[in-house]
Amino acid sequence: MNKTAMNKSDKSETTKNTINIDGRDIPFKEGQTIMDAALAADIYIPHLCHRPGLSPHGSCKLCTVEVNGRSASACTLPAASGQQVSSNTEALNEARKTITQMLFVEGNHFCPACEKTGDCTLQAVAYHLDMLDGHFPQFYPRREVDASHQSIVIDRDRCILCELCVRASREVDGKDVFAIAGRGIDARLIVNAASGKLADADISTDDLAAHICPVGAILIKEHGYEVPIGRRTFDLHTVAEAGREPVILRKDGHSDEQ
Ligand code: SF4
Ligand code: SF4
Repeated sequence: MNKTAMNKSDKSETTKNTINIDGRDIPFKEGQTIMDAALAADIYIPHLCHRPGLSPHGSCKLCTVEVNGRSASACTLPAASGQQVSSNTEALNEARKTITQMLFVEGNHFCPACEKTGDCTLQAVAYHLDMLDGHFPQFYPRREVDASHQSIVIDRDRCILCELCVRASREVDGKDVFAIAGRGIDARLIVNAASGKLADADISTDDLAAHICPVGAILIKEHGYEVPIGRRTFDLHTVAEAGREPVILRKDGHSDEQ
């Protein structure tokens, strides 16, 4: 193939594998979702239940975008050439704020008393969406805390049922420690052990499942407040900045201190 023909071929390939997000043309590779392509181009589409490397789940609905005029989850819809995607619109951001407010009132979130504050994706998304209050009445559900494990604690008060820990355990750790049981307001994180307790589950602090929780529902014991409030990831960066995920509460340092 001569140079001119190659250039034409490159150009048509580029045009073929391009989508437009909020007026910006970005490339995608076969098999990528709209979310994958957006992340690769440093375009932030709000999300909570998605992390690159884990299978997409499409449950939190924060990444709902409009694709050629129709609503779709950016994390599950494959990118296809010619898609016109709207994401950063007032209407979509208002809907995202409402979803975020509901997540707050459905659980028990008291940020000033939470070890995850400043490193919490839910909190950071709320700031990003200019959420100033919960808007809806608080549910104050009764949820069980599981402190049975020597090194890991589950505080279900803060669980947003994103299933990141479920997928991390299955897909990365090669275990099956967590699951979601029940529906609606009765939905809850369960531990796959005869006793239902984390102490009897096959989990260790080396597992991704022990670190991936985007909120303060799964925490490593004896490492609280190692990074002072004010120097945590989202104290220093917005969630929309590229490369801030996955945010992991690490026992050996902190991304902002390296
Ligand atoms: Fe606040 Fe996040 Fe902790 Fe919930 S998990 S109390 S949103 S810091
Ligand atoms: Fe998601 Fe954390 Fe709840 Fe697991 S414990 S489902 S990672 S919020």
